[in-house]
Amino acid sequence: HIVVQRDALQSAFEENVRLLNESRKYAEALKDADRRKDEFLATLAHELRNPLAPIRNGLHILKMSPNPKIAEDVRDMMDRQMTHLVRLIDDLLDVSRVSQGKIDLRRERIDLQDVIKAALETSRPAIDAGRHEFSLDMPDEAIPVNGDLTRLAQVVSNLLNNAAKYTPDGGKIRLTLTRDGHEARIHVADTGLGIERDMLPKVFELFTQVERNLNLSQGGLGIGLALAHRLVQMHGGTITAESAGENQGSTFTVHLPVTDIEGLVTEDAAPQV
Ligand code: ADP
Repeated sequence: HIVVQRDALQSAFEENVRLLNESRKYAEALKDADRRKDEFLATLAHELRNPLAPIRNGLHILKMSPNPKIAEDVRDMMDRQMTHLVRLIDDLLDVSRVSQGKIDLRRERIDLQDVIKAALETSRPAIDAGRHEFSLDMPDEAIPVNGDLTRLAQVVSNLLNNAAKYTPDGGKIRLTLTRDGHEARIHVADTGLGIERDMLPKVFELFTQVERNLNLSQGGLGIGLALAHRLVQMHGGTITAESAGENQGSTFTVHLPVTDIEGLVTEDAAPQV
């Protein structure tokens, strides 16, 4: 009888130790999440604050300087900073909508060429500002997909903006649209900073930013690629990143199912969201 009791005590004790260890781990995870939240808030405040100083300076210069050429340059600069600020805030709103499942796609039969044109319209200033050599390669025929034009253009524009941001002035950015059977591919390739092999799979995770020694003129929040990844997934596609390593350039590819029959996606994988 005593032996049985001792065994019961022993296993109760072991269970308590297990529970204690588990709650310790849980507390560690909570602490970690809390630390990441604090870090994110600091980055957020910093990134939202950054464009405001040049905008305020710009306003001051506009008030003081009668020179129309200077005024024009200042207005362009202020426009770029405002666009950057609005984009950060839009990404932030979108990412919280995505994680709550609140983004609705307006899917219809669209041509990927139109997606590329819309994305270029948005990203052209960022590409031109860095004096990058840009090239575009699209086939002659339309590539139809069942998608949301605005959202897909947002994905491509995000990739183009990153290419411009992480490629030093004078580098090359190449945008290519191809079709291989039922799959359409959009490649955004650059000759910029590149990404180390072990960071490649992580760049699509929310709040992941690769440490850079360079002083980038415009920072970010580490949400652009996570958002792009989610939006492409909602279209039944995938997004991949390749790079031969640091300073070897990067290529991001969006893979999407082509729809050949009016209104139908040819792959079963595409969920209707
Ligand atoms: P952000 O640019 O705001 O930091 P993103 O989610 O857009 O966040 O990108 C995540 C990380 O991936 C970036 O911090 C950057 O280091 C890396 N990255 C993204 N695009 C490129 C690129 N074209 N070349 C090199 N690194 C890139």
